[in-house]
Amino acid sequence: MSDNRVWSYSTVLMGSPVLLKLFSHDEALASRVFSLIKKYEDLFTVNRAQSQVMEINHAAGQQSVVVSRPVYELIKCAKAASMVRDSAFNLAIGPLVKLWRIGFKGDSVPGAQDIAARLRITRPQDVVLDDAAHSVFLTQPGMEIDLGAIAKGFIADRVRDYLHQQGVSDGLINLGGNVQTLGNPQGQWTIGVKKPFADADALVGSIEVANKSVVTSGTYERYFEQDGKRWHHILDPRSGYPLDNELDSVTIISADSLDGDIWTTLIFGLGVEKGCAALRQHEDIEAIFVTKNRDIILSSQRQFRFTQCDDSYHLID
Ligand code: FAD
Ligand code: MG
Ligand code: MG
Repeated sequence: MSDNRVWSYSTVLMGSPVLLKLFSHDEALASRVFSLIKKYEDLFTVNRAQSQVMEINHAAGQQSVVVSRPVYELIKCAKAASMVRDSAFNLAIGPLVKLWRIGFKGDSVPGAQDIAARLRITRPQDVVLDDAAHSVFLTQPGMEIDLGAIAKGFIADRVRDYLHQQGVSDGLINLGGNVQTLGNPQGQWTIGVKKPFADADALVGSIEVANKSVVTSGTYERYFEQDGKRWHHILDPRSGYPLDNELDSVTIISADSLDGDIWTTLIFGLGVEKGCAALRQHEDIEAIFVTKNRDIILSSQRQFRFTQCDDSYHLID
């Protein structure tokens, strides 16, 4: 008889709860997975003085910096997502993220002049890449790359690849909002879609998937309140203020978590209607929108099944 028991391993990395689920008791494997995540965190982080991304940022306006392959590839991918017409995704958003400090100590609404000044040094086209040298140059002094909207997706995919390489075909990794699932011998994985601004375990619904990524971005995870308003951490690269539209959260279902992470930000910029239209060109990317006026909208349901858990929301599909 096969043993389908699930073992859970957890830690905190990238300022986020990290959860690994396996169908075997294997502390050594879990610890190798956490080391892998830590290795990437050390390369990508902008929350410490030193990392490869910080080397690039420290050299802004001065010189190009040669970086390792994963750093170069992720920056190249983040730049491509930033250069899409009307994209809300901007890898050069760092100076604004640092100004707002949302989710960190000392967050407050900055002055309009400070925001305007920082907007001038957040142009993605000023991130200059050299494929042959694997180097990155930020042409304006003060520029800063921030991979916070994409790095967890990239890392979740690397964990999946590593588990496959180790002969593990079943399991799940959750990097605090970025879930990448492998198979599940019991059938499928059930992933909750959180209820915005409610208890941590309250759900508006859940979906069942296997071998898919499920990424959620919301206005309710990292925010602060000032002047009777909530200010959340997904910034509009055009205005320099948090993106303000009908959305409380977006969940993206896709094969790769990298795509999921990029699309959550793109969709936040587009809103429901334009977001759905954009997804019609991308059959393998699907979205669950949760709006402020309590609608749940499914762009399509090819790769998952949705079950509603909260009657105060209206399901529209
Ligand atoms: P997403 O919606 O996927 O991304 C939002 C984040 O992307 C913002 O927090 C900001 O960093 C950035 N961003 C905002 N607007 C835009 C935009 N328009 N375009 C592109 N990017 C944008 N948190 C801690 O508290 N302490 C830590 O030490 C810490 N270390 C981290 C190290 C790494 C390598 C990474 C990837 C994250 C780390 N974090 C840390 C968390 C980080 O600060 C962000 O909160 C997190 O990445 C947000 O991810 P998300 O999936 O919740 O949100
Ligand atoms: Mg994310
Ligand atoms: Mg994202």
